[in-house]
Amino acid sequence: MTSNAAHTSSDAVAFADRIGELLTTMRSAEAELGALLVDIEQRGVMELFGYRSAARLLEHVGDVPKPAAERLVKRARLVNPGRNLDGSPIPALAPATGAAALAGRLSNPMIDVITDVLAQVPPVHCSSAEANLLTFAEEAGHKQVAALGARILAHLVPDGTAPDDIEPVAPARELFLRRKRTGVWELSGRFDDETGTRASALLDALAERRNGDEGPDFRTTPQRYGDAFSDAVDLALNSPDLPMQAGERAHVMVAVSLEDLKSGVGKATLGDTGEMSAAEARVHACDAMIIPAVLGANSEPLNLGRLRRLISAGLRRALFLRDRGCAFPGCHRPPRHCQGHHIRHWADGGPTDLTNLVLMCAHHHRLLHRSGWEVRIAADGRPEFLPPVFIDRRRLPRRNNLHETLPFAA
Ligand SMILES: [Zn+2]
Ligand SMILES: [Zn+2]
Repeated sequence: MTSNAAHTSSDAVAFADRIGELLTTMRSAEAELGALLVDIEQRGVMELFGYRSAARLLEHVGDVPKPAAERLVKRARLVNPGRNLDGSPIPALAPATGAAALAGRLSNPMIDVITDVLAQVPPVHCSSAEANLLTFAEEAGHKQVAALGARILAHLVPDGTAPDDIEPVAPARELFLRRKRTGVWELSGRFDDETGTRASALLDALAERRNGDEGPDFRTTPQRYGDAFSDAVDLALNSPDLPMQAGERAHVMVAVSLEDLKSGVGKATLGDTGEMSAAEARVHACDAMIIPAVLGANSEPLNLGRLRRLISAGLRRALFLRDRGCAFPGCHRPPRHCQGHHIRHWADGGPTDLTNLVLMCAHHHRLLHRSGWEVRIAADGRPEFLPPVFIDRRRLPRRNNLHETLPFAA
């Protein structure tokens, strides 16, 4: 009886040890897999594999159900360092937890409990709270560690808000913006509820269907929201509150040759990496949203001062007062959404004054450059638009009367 019990007991110890060993190996391998996926994510899953996310990649490569793949990647993001858009590192929320996970010492529920607590702890207390939780985790299960976490939070964050002398917890926001080799940019991210709601309200307003004189709006919902995002960027770049870069409004440098800018044929270099057509550069160069570096025949920068004048603040105000918003027929966009369009492009010698400028929203500005619509200043000094022949064979001029002051509003 005694020998039998001893026999069973030593077997049990060996089995338990083996379970522990295998779990350590599995957990360590899973932590390494997570770190690898986070690394892949930062280098660009789409560029490397053509998948939309690291979780999708894992789902297909490993036949891992999507929710499990997403949990694994999400967990790995919290315990591995990240990278900012410019490539600079962001420290992990729970680096010591990441190290313990890599050593195979933590179960997944334990990692989740610890990172969940740390996400709510004021940043200054994060590393000491993490050390406490990890020490306790060596001897306790994840439920007990969760109870300790609740006590830590109750102490550091009473009533769910940080004490006055401690920085409030920053909302969890992430944004990924990457340029793929094809020149297409990919945007993804996650935001707290408030930011998400505000972004959604902004984009909803900008993505409304357009019912102007240009005909029905056939854009799909994603296309409308893509255009809305582009408009939102223009709007932010137009904001006087935008932080200055070296004393100037933030701008993107476009290098284009004068020949290409005049003809609208050829390519322009955008920023450090991108490329845009010369026709597109011509639209941007029309106002001052993007400052073109116009190059001569031997790629030497030409003196822009002789070529054009920027639309001065005074002239812009006069333009705002005259047009009161996008001048395109049927457009309701207010002045802050608008750019100045040179009727005769400054690259072709057009003057920068009221007789040659029209206020236009980004959408109608591009439409004007690309389509058969034409604009001119009528005898009364107001802009009027000539539709392309396929819209009106007689090309009768049209005006926007949506910005007119109502007679009874005075
Ligand atoms: Zn223009
Ligand atoms: Zn417009």
